[in-house]
Amino acid sequence: MSPHVLILGGTTEARRLAADLAARPAVRVTTSLAGRVASPAPVAGETRTGGFGGPEGLADWLLTHRVDVLVDATHPFAASITANAARAAAVTGVRALMLRRPGWRPVAGDDWHLVDSLDAAAEALPRLGRRVFLSTGRLGLAAFRHLTDLSFVVRSVDPPEPPLPPDTRVLLARGPFTVTDETRLLRTHRIDVLVTKDSGGAATAAKLTAARDLGLPVVVVRRPEPPAGVTVVPDVAGVLERLGLSSPRGSGAADTCP
Ligand code: NAP
Repeated sequence: MSPHVLILGGTTEARRLAADLAARPAVRVTTSLAGRVASPAPVAGETRTGGFGGPEGLADWLLTHRVDVLVDATHPFAASITANAARAAAVTGVRALMLRRPGWRPVAGDDWHLVDSLDAAAEALPRLGRRVFLSTGRLGLAAFRHLTDLSFVVRSVDPPEPPLPPDTRVLLARGPFTVTDETRLLRTHRIDVLVTKDSGGAATAAKLTAARDLGLPVVVVRRPEPPAGVTVVPDVAGVLERLGLSSPRGSGAADTCP
């Protein structure tokens, strides 16, 4: 029988992995989405949507649907589902991998201010600037609501969840963004400080280059640590290699997962 891979998705890497696995007739792939985004990007293979009901619910799902490999390819800041995945895999004995794109690294010319949370980012902001580009996603913006002297530009795929700071302009957009796009945005809105999570990846990295070019400070929220004992791989190729599926897509060879 075809091995069944469950991908916990919501990222570009998850979609890429699903596309690669779905192209292999000898593998069954299901991607799970949280259901937060109104129109998610299309995903190859089977999909399911919505929470499982904690680690116990996920463990049940793994057993009921005869999952052979669980790949947690969720966003680096989606800490709850990642913890649930580790627990469900431990309880069921299902093989688990964590696909985590590497974080960003500062280079010469960057003026980064590393913090551990959105609350800490809000605390750092008043001494760094007054016009803020907030690209930390649509959730958790209540951390900034008390900053009534600052102006915010918030960018997210779907409308941000209130409460928001009183002086907030919302831009709805989905990456990838180019350095030209980002430079224009920063100049148009006369931004003097950025806030971002250390999401890593190329799709949203251009804002960091634009900030460096313009000499702007960036508040970077550090990502949570992966759960202890989990095997972390940095990219889709790493997952395929771990599963013995590293042959080129469509070659038909070595489809031996798990
Ligand atoms: P989270 O706080 O870690 O998860 C909260 C709950 O949402 C989980 O306990 C789980 O509910 C459900 N859930 C999350 N991801 C799921 C998935 N892929 N499939 C099924 N249920 C899922 O997650 P989050 O930060 O809200 O992120 C939600 C989704 O958006 C994730 O899939 C993530 O990849 C994506 N995303 C997150 C961010 C971010 O900055 N956090 C950015 C971009 C994309 P149950 O306990 O009921 O199973």
